[in-house]
Amino acid sequence: FLINEINKKEVLQSHYQMLGLTMVITLIVIMIGWILMIPVIRHLVQPFHHLVTAINKIKAGNYRMQLNRGFFKGSSVEIRQFMHLFNEMLSTIHKNHQTLQKLSNTDELTGVANRRVFEDHLDREWHHGRREKQPLSLIFMDIDYFKEFNDMFGHQAGDECLRKVAQTAKNTINRPRDLIARYGGEEFVIALPETELKDAVRLAEKVRRQVEQLQIPHSEGEHVTVSIGVASVVPTKTMDKELLIESADKALYKAKALGRNRVMTNQ
Ligand code: GH3
Ligand code: MG
Ligand code: MG
Repeated sequence: FLINEINKKEVLQSHYQMLGLTMVITLIVIMIGWILMIPVIRHLVQPFHHLVTAINKIKAGNYRMQLNRGFFKGSSVEIRQFMHLFNEMLSTIHKNHQTLQKLSNTDELTGVANRRVFEDHLDREWHHGRREKQPLSLIFMDIDYFKEFNDMFGHQAGDECLRKVAQTAKNTINRPRDLIARYGGEEFVIALPETELKDAVRLAEKVRRQVEQLQIPHSEGEHVTVSIGVASVVPTKTMDKELLIESADKALYKAKALGRNRVMTNQ
């Protein structure tokens, strides 16, 4: 019985020793595993984390960004190649996006903004003017006797004339929030935020003079001229921006009726 008891104790002891040893070995293996995982985490998980951050920015419309080379420094050749191709793909998307944006925003013939951009811009500035209680002015310009010009010199010359008039008007405005756009056939609009009527009239007069000074020949020894209507308003809640357009259009009609080649307001 005694021998039996001693044997049992010894067996149990060696069993616990084995168990302890196994646990130590397991712990060492786990630790070595962790140590081996550190470079994997650094070279694989971190670049992926950076990639996910970048994709989220791209999703939000930021095509200008590029993956930072620094994050991929110690990565494998394949991952660095992936990063390089990803950046190249981003550059192409960014370039195409810019081209498309430019195409959809500009008037093909004259190179100035198109009517859609003008409507958006006027909308924004209308709200800005309302918030800040600032005047918003509008210049409405139309080439005089342009049908006759086309009939006389041809459509090509007409197009060239439109380009020159648009560029001349564009060169006259200089504040970053001023915007010139082609409104229709031979009609142009200029939005002038935070500009009072008298300053808008002065600018309109300058545009009219500059066009006249281009000295583009018209019929009977005359030169190409423009008629201009100017309107200005401090937008309020009860007003609509169409009111400003209508007002400038009426002023333009007045300039035409009074003999053309002049600037008129609706007052
Ligand atoms: P008004 O002094 O009253 O403005 O007379 P107008 O002849 O200029 O006015 P009207 O509106 O009768 O004629 C506008 C002309 O503009 C008619 C059209 O052939 C011409 N036009 C419109 N768009 C273009 C264009 O893109 N290129 C050319 N060449 N002509 C255009
Ligand atoms: Mg017209
Ligand atoms: Mg005209």
